[in-house]
Amino acid sequence: MAQSSEPTIFALASAPGRAGVAVVRISGSGAGRVIDFMAGPRAEARRAVGRFVRHPESGEKLDRGVVIWFPGPKSFTGEDVAELHLHGGRAVVDAVLSALSIMPGLRMAEPGEFARRAFEAGKLDLAEVEGLADLIDAETEGQRRQALAQASGVLSDLYDGWRASLIEALGLIEAGLDFADEGDIGAKTFTDARAIIQVLARAVNHHLEDGHRGEILRHGFRVALTGPPNAGKSSLLNALARRDVAIVSAEAGTTRDVVEARLDLGGLPVIVSDTAGFRDAEGAIEREGMRRSKAVAEAADLVLWLTDATEPQTLLPPALAAVADRTLLVLNKIDLLPGGEAPALPDDMVPLSVETGAGVTELIERLTVIARERIGHQEEPALTQVRHRRLVEACRENLDAFLLGSPDEVELRAEDLRRAADALGRITGRVDVEDVLDHIFGRFCIGK
Ligand code: GDP
Repeated sequence: MAQSSEPTIFALASAPGRAGVAVVRISGSGAGRVIDFMAGPRAEARRAVGRFVRHPESGEKLDRGVVIWFPGPKSFTGEDVAELHLHGGRAVVDAVLSALSIMPGLRMAEPGEFARRAFEAGKLDLAEVEGLADLIDAETEGQRRQALAQASGVLSDLYDGWRASLIEALGLIEAGLDFADEGDIGAKTFTDARAIIQVLARAVNHHLEDGHRGEILRHGFRVALTGPPNAGKSSLLNALARRDVAIVSAEAGTTRDVVEARLDLGGLPVIVSDTAGFRDAEGAIEREGMRRSKAVAEAADLVLWLTDATEPQTLLPPALAAVADRTLLVLNKIDLLPGGEAPALPDDMVPLSVETGAGVTELIERLTVIARERIGHQEEPALTQVRHRRLVEACRENLDAFLLGSPDEVELRAEDLRRAADALGRITGRVDVEDVLDHIFGRFCIGK
């Protein structure tokens, strides 16, 4: 629990800059005093009231706004919280923040400090906090849906449920230990525990083997644009992004830097990266470009190999051999073909002309379908980040150790289960997580 001796913190909770409304949030034992001194009289709990906001010393009016008083523990942080909804002008916000800073016992909040206090008060568990951070970062519908589910406790419920099964199995084994000299009872409780763990291990395996859907949705489905120089990669990226993010040039090898465009395809985040052209690199800069292009292609979920339809290079360069199974061939510049007609192509080749726009919509549809197949909407809660995956893997390892280990070494088997339960407890922060807290809360902006 956050102690009342902790300083009261305040920050602008809405985005900085000129806006219709700005929200300043104050949390801690001094929050009520802030309302009394600056925007009193204090109204009943959780009721929005119009008040002048005044300087605490001079009494000068700084703004007229809406004030809400959330006495703890029924607040976001669990502490006393006050919210001042102000006119969102810079001078108004600056005046109110500097007035707050002169009040004794108050200081500016650090990034994520409100969320951290909510976690410490048991208002949010760690997976929910991470969901909240993702919700603030969500750029597409799919990301919003996934983050909201996580922030609302969908993953926490799953992992807590598993942890409860583990503790039940552990209880059985420990009960069996008490009857160690009555062999039959010990053996029976061990068999019952084993049955629970077998069911759990299946669920955990299924959860881990999800093709990284949740993680890809969280980060974005990565598409690497590759192809020989002048195939039209930069032009295609521009067409996809419908804005000037890449330099279009008729000169070979000018696209040495990887340029990225973030797209929203049917609610799914798709990040398209342009790469330097693949060819026999002459200069050192081009060689470096090639090395990076290869790395981008290998990190991508899908590779587009773009080639000029008038001189198609449909054979992938050896550097791309490793990604051949996730490469889509795109034939550009079909407008230059005699008659300007799209040639009859096998299913895994896409004809288009960035110049005329022919086929670009079809390519976008194709990308949408592929992204949806990989990360589309799903009923089951998915793993969303590496931190969780590592811990679920650690849980699985201990479940395997339990299932494969000798039932005669009961103490060791109990330890397997304890470790498995601890790994799950670290996801939600029920168990020893001091080491990851700074990292997780540091992701937030000030005011959250
Ligand atoms: P990159 O090196 O693969 O990035 O290729 P660019 O996007 O820089 O394009 C190379 C040249 O091809 C530029 O002059 C483009 O205008 C031109 N180009 C790109 N797409 C098409 C197309 O569909 N048809 C025609 N005729 N020219 C194109």
